[in-house]
Amino acid sequence: MSVPVILLVEDEASQRAVLNYNLKAEGFEVLQAADGEEALLRAQETPPDLVLLDWMLPHVSGLEVCRRLKSGKDTRDIPIIMLSARSEELDRVRGLETGADDYMVKPYSVAELVARVRKELRRTRPTTMGETMSFEDILLDAASHRVSRADQDIKLGPTEFRLLSCFLEAQGRVLSREQLLDRVWGRDIYVDTRTVDVHIGRLRKALMQHGGTDPLRTVRGAGYALG
Ligand code: CA
Repeated sequence: MSVPVILLVEDEASQRAVLNYNLKAEGFEVLQAADGEEALLRAQETPPDLVLLDWMLPHVSGLEVCRRLKSGKDTRDIPIIMLSARSEELDRVRGLETGADDYMVKPYSVAELVARVRKELRRTRPTTMGETMSFEDILLDAASHRVSRADQDIKLGPTEFRLLSCFLEAQGRVLSREQLLDRVWGRDIYVDTRTVDVHIGRLRKALMQHGGTDPLRTVRGAGYALG
C-alpha cells in the first residue's frame, strides 16, 4: 500500500509545523510549500494525492492556486481542502465556486481536519487508504495487499500491484503511459515508457494465470484502461 502524499500550503511557519507533525503522525507523506508559487511548482513536480490550501498566501493567493490546479490537465482530479481564517472568506470561497472539494475555517481541530482528509482520500485514492476495490471478478484488498480473480489468489510484484491499483481507481478511464509513470514510479525517477509496457504485460499474464479474458484494454496512441 503506497502512502498518500499531501501537499501542505501554508505561509505561517508555526501552523505549517503543527499540521506537518500531525499529518506525519497519521502516516501521511507531507510536501510543504510556503506560498502559492511554490505550491504550483511542487504540485507539478510531484502530483500529490491531496492539497491542503491556505486561502491567504503571499504572491499568488490560495484561490488562484486552487483555480489553476483545478484547470490543469494533470492536477484537476487532486482533491483540495481550503483553509481560511474567517467564515466570511469561506462564504467567498463557496460563492466563487473555486472547485475546492472541502473547506475549513481556522481555528479548526486537527482531528476534524484529518478526518476530512481521510474522507477525501477514501473517495479519490481508495487503495492508498487500505480499501478493497473490485472490477468484475478481480478483487484488490489494499490493507492485506492481496489480489484475487474468481476467488483464486493472484501473486503480483509491487509494481504490478500499484499498476492495478491505478486502474481500479481510474474506473474505466484510459491512463496514458506518462500518467502511469508518474503514479507508479514517481516523477523524480527516470523510467522509459517502454518499461510501462513490460509491466503491463506482466500484469496481464498474472491476471490471466487461472484463465479468464484479458481485462486490460490497449488504446492505440492513448494508453491502457481496465475494462
Ligand atoms: Ca496565511
